[in-house]
Amino acid sequence: MRVLVVEDEKKTASFVRKALQAEGFAVDVCHNGDDALAAARATPFDGIVLDIMLPGRDGLSVLRQLRERKNVTPVLLLSARGEVNERVEGLNAGADDYLPKPFELVELVARVRALTRRGGETKSTVLSVADLTLDTLTRQAQRGETSIELTVREYRLLEFLMRSAGRLCGRMMILEKSGIMISTPARTWLTFTSGGCAKKLTRTLNPSCSTPFVARAMC
Ligand code: CA
Repeated sequence: MRVLVVEDEKKTASFVRKALQAEGFAVDVCHNGDDALAAARATPFDGIVLDIMLPGRDGLSVLRQLRERKNVTPVLLLSARGEVNERVEGLNAGADDYLPKPFELVELVARVRALTRRGGETKSTVLSVADLTLDTLTRQAQRGETSIELTVREYRLLEFLMRSAGRLCGRMMILEKSGIMISTPARTWLTFTSGGCAKKLTRTLNPSCSTPFVARAMC
């Protein structure tokens, strides 16, 4: 599951990102409304955590823009003010849930999980590339008929790579988007094609096949 967090307070954004990543979400972060709209246009997120109080374009304006563009990604609104009017305004603008600040991270994570689960009811939650599938709700990976056990880190890396199929992904991008540091030479890139791979994952996925997929190291 990939989530966009829109929060201008960088410490809060960092806490939220880490809490969601610890639960296996891939997390993108924006610090203002215009960047959030651009990110939502470029990437199909499974959920958006959207702070109302943002510099420039505020969260409610972002939300209205998203809905005007027919973007139906589930949105959890955050606000320092738990006022009823604001809550109603947010829900009327198309928000799916609302969490007043200050909040407990465990509650935010639970709400995001519920939100993305609901969103998943209307679209497939299974990523697939060739004969590899990854269910982003159950976190079950399967290649052909073979189920694959993944650690949380491996799951996050695999989900990121599958969502990035066909695109070059540098180590810093992987670190930023998935929180996973890839230990490879500095000039090595990972690409989602057939070939060799981030070693453990490749071995796990396909110990013998000459055309494994996942990520190939290229210098
Ligand atoms: Ca704010």
